[in-house]
Amino acid sequence: MKINNNFFFKSLCLLVFFTVLSPSTWAKDILVENQKEYRKAAKKVRAGDTIILKNGVWKDFKISLVAKGKKNKPVTLKAETKGKVIISGQSNLRIAGEYIVVSGLVFKDGFSPSSEVLSFRRGKENLAYHSRMTEIVVDNFNKPGKFDQDYWVALYGKHNRFDHNHLSGKKNKGVTLAVRLDSPESQENYHRIDYNYFGPRPVFGSNGAETLRIGTSKFSLTNAYVTVENNYFDRCNGEVEIISNKSGGNIYRNNVFFESRGTLTMRHGNGNLVENNVFFGNGKDHTGGIRVINANQTIRNNYMSGLTGYRFGGAFVVMNGAVNPPINRYHQVKNAKIENNTLINSDHVQLAAGADEERDAPPISSMMKNNLFTVSEPKEIFTSFDDISGIDFINNVLINVTKAPYKTGFVNSQVDMVKAANGLYYPSDPALAGVGVSKSLMPVTRDDVGVMWYPKIDPEAVFDLVESVAITPGENTLTHALSSGVSGAVYELAAGHYTVTTPINLSRAITLNAADGAQNKVHIEFTSPTLFEISEGGSLKMNGLHISGNKSKVSESGINSLIKTKNSMLGNYQLIIDNAQIVDLNTAPVFNLLTINNSTVADKIVVTNSQFKNITGNILPLNKEIEDRGVYNAEYITIHDSSFENVGLALMNVYRGGTDESTFGPHVDLRNNTIKNVGLASNNTLKKSIILHGVQVTNLFSNTVTNSAPILINHTVGEPYTKIIGNTFEEITFPVVKELVSIKVDTAEIRDNKQI
Ligand code: CA
Repeated sequence: MKINNNFFFKSLCLLVFFTVLSPSTWAKDILVENQKEYRKAAKKVRAGDTIILKNGVWKDFKISLVAKGKKNKPVTLKAETKGKVIISGQSNLRIAGEYIVVSGLVFKDGFSPSSEVLSFRRGKENLAYHSRMTEIVVDNFNKPGKFDQDYWVALYGKHNRFDHNHLSGKKNKGVTLAVRLDSPESQENYHRIDYNYFGPRPVFGSNGAETLRIGTSKFSLTNAYVTVENNYFDRCNGEVEIISNKSGGNIYRNNVFFESRGTLTMRHGNGNLVENNVFFGNGKDHTGGIRVINANQTIRNNYMSGLTGYRFGGAFVVMNGAVNPPINRYHQVKNAKIENNTLINSDHVQLAAGADEERDAPPISSMMKNNLFTVSEPKEIFTSFDDISGIDFINNVLINVTKAPYKTGFVNSQVDMVKAANGLYYPSDPALAGVGVSKSLMPVTRDDVGVMWYPKIDPEAVFDLVESVAITPGENTLTHALSSGVSGAVYELAAGHYTVTTPINLSRAITLNAADGAQNKVHIEFTSPTLFEISEGGSLKMNGLHISGNKSKVSESGINSLIKTKNSMLGNYQLIIDNAQIVDLNTAPVFNLLTINNSTVADKIVVTNSQFKNITGNILPLNKEIEDRGVYNAEYITIHDSSFENVGLALMNVYRGGTDESTFGPHVDLRNNTIKNVGLASNNTLKKSIILHGVQVTNLFSNTVTNSAPILINHTVGEPYTKIIGNTFEEITFPVVKELVSIKVDTAEIRDNKQI
């Protein structure tokens, strides 16, 4: 019996041993080397297993992971080495099931074949729960067409986490990260979105380029309960909404908005909390803060610095709404609690903003308490557009702010602001310790978010990044020199004559400078119908060049161009012309300085100290978006200290149609220019020298315009700013500003002009 017992015991031990070690239950690491191996592994994966993608480039890989992990035994998909697994080509990632973790992948050099790059679902019925995507990079993973729409990230299901990811360079249409509430399974979801790097998103030039959206108007009375915290929004400039909140019960906490145009907009949904966020505008155009709409919103302990935005894009905006409006319109602000926020050196605080016939219900039952408003020089920053007695103002402190918006609840102070260890400014007087943000506020930094192993690139560094390369005169020496090289390269052209026989393609940013002492001694002629063709990635800066079109052969279309875009483009380009002499663009019936395609946006076109003479076509025809969708072709157009003489068609034709209010541009700034004999050719069917349609900001300062076709400015959407000041108009009718939509008589500021 003794032996038998012993034998039984040993057998039991062996059985237990083999059960524990048996391949069917022991958590496995499965290294896969190709898509076939991946699919095989994904089919069999169990709780606790890890699928490891081998380092390398995985092309055209539609990753699907439908699995069931357990709370402490997730199903994991990861890179062999973080950052060394590149997902390229037509690829995406979809997960569904429970307790799944994906990490370490880099999506670049491609785009998603579906409507999402990273998705927390595999089909409508198959959502992800308790799952996580972390340390994933999506870098310029854009669909090829600017208006081909997708989400880079779409959250569905419940209790998912999206953290420590890097999303940078979205250029095609669509929200960067969308939380969807389109079925009950995705509502009241308690997702967490934290420690992500939302990298630069360039100006899109139309609606549909939000960085983060939670919900939609349709489901906006539903609670989402999403927490968005410790994220860094770096120059997220797509459109007027950086964040579009369209649901209830969400928390936005400890996020930093660095030089981002637009606002955190509480567009729809009630009962949201916005606290401990920091906005650094650094004086950049259109940087905004928080816009409050709807009921039961709490906005406390937020710091807003150097924000220049105005109207709905201001540093702090409380909107008017309507009583019982349709779900997609503006609901009245009720029970807003606005406490302990600091606004420093920011230009605009708007209360009861947007008041009009529809939005006739001002904020009620609301409170603004212990907020600090400070500017370094005396300045008025508040504007009230309706009755604000529904806001209870208590102990708000103004430093240098000249006019309180209400008769009670504001105290003037003269104390200094002192920088604290956290980099933020506080009043030096301890008596004001209870006003403005708390000393414990600690903004996240760029280094705290995203991943450590992938660079965060400065998008503004375009030109002049590489030491100069010398070019000598001759036939096609320029073409040859520009045929290769890196973006940001600088070329120094020696004095002499250059001939170019085929168009020069620019798919990188280049600078062409006249070498020292060669200013206006660099003569460029070209025999093709076009000199420069800008394609994806291309930008051009030139200084001190003399360019003549007198040898340019006429193209089949009869339209020649000094510079043209080659196709539609996803990315924005820049064109900078300084100290140029551009003459005799006149061999073709229409010979333009610039000819563009639709779906192209110039971030900026800057012309300074240059002369243009004898040109049959247009200088800047920026009018290719004619569908009235609120789309346009250039954000900033600046022309200073230049002359235009004998130009057959228009100096400028800028078109931004439609009544959508989601963009800040275009901006046009013309100063100290001489404009003579422009727009008078018989083929100028528009019969204008300058036509600006829907431009948002127009400055015409100190120009002299002589014997030219009329100037027309059409105001369409929003409240455009137009200033016509100090110009001389000779043998030309005075510029006409038309209000096409607004009921207001005339919003332009026109003064100190001379008409001869
Ligand atoms: Ca929008």
